[in-house]
Amino acid sequence: MSQIEYSSLWPVIGHQWAVNQLASSLNHDRVRHAYLITGPAGIGKTTFARAFAQTVNCLDEQSRPCGVCRSCMLIDHDNYADVRVIQSAGSTLKIDQVRDMQRMLSLRPVEARYRVVILRRFNEASPQAMDALLKTLEEPAPYVLLILTADTTDTLLATIRSRCQLVSLRPLPTATVKHALEEKYHIESERAALLAQLAVGRMGWAIRATTDETLLTERADLLDLLELALGESRIGRFGLAENLSKDKDRLGRALDLWQSYWRDVLLTIHSTTTPITNRDRRHAIQQIAVGVTVEDVQRVINAIKRTAQYVEENANTRLTLEVLMLDLPRLKLLAAPPS
Ligand SMILES: [Zn+2]
Repeated sequence: MSQIEYSSLWPVIGHQWAVNQLASSLNHDRVRHAYLITGPAGIGKTTFARAFAQTVNCLDEQSRPCGVCRSCMLIDHDNYADVRVIQSAGSTLKIDQVRDMQRMLSLRPVEARYRVVILRRFNEASPQAMDALLKTLEEPAPYVLLILTADTTDTLLATIRSRCQLVSLRPLPTATVKHALEEKYHIESERAALLAQLAVGRMGWAIRATTDETLLTERADLLDLLELALGESRIGRFGLAENLSKDKDRLGRALDLWQSYWRDVLLTIHSTTTPITNRDRRHAIQQIAVGVTVEDVQRVINAIKRTAQYVEENANTRLTLEVLMLDLPRLKLLAAPPS
């Protein structure tokens, strides 16, 4: 009988060091029962977890994962009885979902070697759900493989962290994201370059943005709003603040985006040739860069960070946003020439 090899060719883009590490533990028969995969939203944690589930349950007799056997195919489509992806219903993972999972894990696998549960966004689980999970982590059955994903480990119980093997996924190089968008998703070059910049290393975000137009439309709206505010009077700015303060999630995304925009201004002041994140806004960013000082930009960036923190702490969002609006320099931007 030929020796089965667990290969490092997984259906994931990038994160090769992490793939190598897990393939190696499989080859040495050192699989743990619980893994915690961390990294920013959209970086590819669930894709990675699913590829791991395919690898442990692949049916190929030589090289796993093969990607084409019954197990690999069904897992890829989230349609395999022994592999379940669970995510929070609403904002937090509830204790009932953990109990469902425990019931599933108490049964032997139907056909696989491992019963795998992927618990997504576990950092948002309720404290009760985290407590309930501890029991599973303390006495896992030999066929159980539990994979948690989390944007951050800050809110996780230390006892959960210590019982899982940590795999921290890091942002991919922009060139890797661009290349994958062109080669695998057939996105034309200039659009792929923009999406890759905006993705800041998050492949999952980039892939979503190729099909979900609202991600880019909202971004355009929020940047238009910022550029408009620069030319507005105090009254005009307060109007924009009122509009934006109505949706806290959208406001949070606006503040993230505005920070990246002002960092681009800072980069452009120092050098007009450095690649910037918001490359489609270069025309406006260059105009701002010649109209302000480094100190002005730093003051704006600090004001945005402060606002984000106040919003997080549930301060009066409209008022804090009005204060931020007054910190923006006054500039009249010329429209970009037609391209
Ligand atoms: Zn397979």
